[in-house]
Amino acid sequence: MSTDLSNAASNSASNAAMLEANYARALSAYPGQVIVDLKALRDNMRTLVERVSQDLQPGQNAPEVMGVVKADGYGHGLIPSALAALAGGATWLGTAQPYEALRLRAAGIDSSRCRILTWLTSAPTTRFADLITADIDISVGSIDSLDAVALAARNLAKPARVHVKVDTGFGRNGFTPEGFSAALEKLKQYASEGVIEVIGQWSHLAVADSPDVPEFVDATDRQIKQFHEFTKRMSEAGLAPKIRHLANTAATLNRPEIRFELVRPGIGLYGYEPDPAMGDSQTYGLQPAMTLQAQLGTVKAVEEGHGISYGRTYLTPNNTSTAIVPLGYADGILRSASGFDMQGARHVDKQGGPVRVETNEGARILNVSGRVCMDQFIVDLKGDAAELCVREGDTVTLFGPGRGVEFAEPTADDWAEAAGTISYEIMTGIGPRVPRLYRNAYEVLSSSDIAKLDAKSLI
Ligand SMILES: *Cc1c(COP(=O)(O)O)cnc(C)c1O
Repeated sequence: MSTDLSNAASNSASNAAMLEANYARALSAYPGQVIVDLKALRDNMRTLVERVSQDLQPGQNAPEVMGVVKADGYGHGLIPSALAALAGGATWLGTAQPYEALRLRAAGIDSSRCRILTWLTSAPTTRFADLITADIDISVGSIDSLDAVALAARNLAKPARVHVKVDTGFGRNGFTPEGFSAALEKLKQYASEGVIEVIGQWSHLAVADSPDVPEFVDATDRQIKQFHEFTKRMSEAGLAPKIRHLANTAATLNRPEIRFELVRPGIGLYGYEPDPAMGDSQTYGLQPAMTLQAQLGTVKAVEEGHGISYGRTYLTPNNTSTAIVPLGYADGILRSASGFDMQGARHVDKQGGPVRVETNEGARILNVSGRVCMDQFIVDLKGDAAELCVREGDTVTLFGPGRGVEFAEPTADDWAEAAGTISYEIMTGIGPRVPRLYRNAYEVLSSSDIAKLDAKSLI
């Protein structure tokens, strides 16, 4: 017993040393890092699972929850995001690209553990046989893809699990109401041959993130009505779907009537609301999981009126100091998040993306000054660096969970506002050369799941 305890203690001490060494190595490998808190991801999934388990109709089962991990887990890393989502109670995973679904299975996330759905296929090029063999559910939304899936399944002598994608008004993938009779004929034929199993019916919403705009609420209502029409036609054809799913994060949070058997949150897993008009992370008990930080390059004093970066769009208003943040548009720091005070000879005021800098007077939120360059941008420290105790190598935060009250960290929403985009693009745009590091793996994941991650990425 006491040996066990001292073993555990020495294990955790050597673990802590290993994690610290990983962090130090990452800092010298690249001057910026994405740090993902696996506990935040797990807890966000738990929050979503709890939310859809509330307010059930009598006799209604709680819907299952799919963690959407497309685009490398919204930039957080595919496998770590998937494992944290499963630890939080997700029973499905979803990817747009088939290769990501295959990577999840190849990492050892097998079908006894969760179903995986993938949806962005192309009839002649997608390796449907690999998907069927790996027990991956496949979305079909065109006759061509249905034929290709059926052919692959027939050759394998293994039925494909398909989810019928219907276009209820998004205008992207899926069968339209007009094309649906022909699709139903084919589906019936392949189902009776036994080469496909119709598992699901699904669709995607265009404006569920705008509950404050009446015409968008009406548009969502029309999509829902259309969705029910498609279900009716499937049932009449003897193809009643076992699992229907329509809700993204926005609808999971604000449209309890369309949770059906499964919901598909993405951005909520990562700790953000789909649109700031819906509130912020705290409104829904979510916590941003990603922190983007960097270590300062050159810090120096410059005179009043000094032009900063390409195009001279920022002239220092006073004698000041500047610091280099060594991340640029090649790392996904959008050029549209540049900060201007000049355009030609004219004064303008366009605030650049925010950066939290620690000074001896506490944390300050400063901004991108001038144009974002390929590998770097410049921040006007608005003071004397020596007096502020800001030095080369200091770690600054571009965005994070928003901890603290007075000088709260910026969030991806703040960068989205500065760049005229959405938090989704900020997070998915961070380039592959910025290392991803993972916090709290030992707190959240089983040892067999930890073994699925790159050991050097744990901090
Ligand atoms: C991305 C995506 C989702 C998740 O959307 P969020 O707004 O991130 O919750 C759900 N379904 C489909 C089809 C998607 O492409």
